[in-house]
Amino acid sequence: MSFQEQIKKTTSLGFFEGQVPLNYKYTMGVAGERFFQTLRDKGDFIASKCPECGTMAIYPLIYCEECFAEIKDYVSVGLTGELYSWTECSSDFKGARHEKPHLLGMVRFQGVQGGIIHRLDVPLSEIAIGMKVIAVLRPSSQRKGSLDDIQCFKKA
Ligand SMILES: [Zn+2]
Repeated sequence: MSFQEQIKKTTSLGFFEGQVPLNYKYTMGVAGERFFQTLRDKGDFIASKCPECGTMAIYPLIYCEECFAEIKDYVSVGLTGELYSWTECSSDFKGARHEKPHLLGMVRFQGVQGGIIHRLDVPLSEIAIGMKVIAVLRPSSQRKGSLDDIQCFKKA
């Protein structure tokens, strides 16, 4: 079939099944790498801070999404944030049921755009939008510079 031919009836369509073996690495980027290095080495969260408009963002950026200024400044925001949203998850991405539902939340930080989505270790009866939560990190010797360096967020 060439570019000039067209399929006019859906009954003319065919398909084949198979798998395409692809491997890829998704890079964190300059600011993302700095975020995870800081998490691993200092046990802290950093946000980017725009030198022009002051907008702060997590995950950090190298260019401001508001005014497009280049960002080279990063500031500590600590490990305590506010629960912005949450959900209960009963099964994994393959559909297998969890023995006990997992709680996931989006945590935002004071004055910072964006946030971190991660596991919550908060009793279901105590969860409330806006509650203060703090990240529980793995011991420094076990951190690898990844999102898994955070074990969960618990009630602050
Ligand atoms: Zn800006």
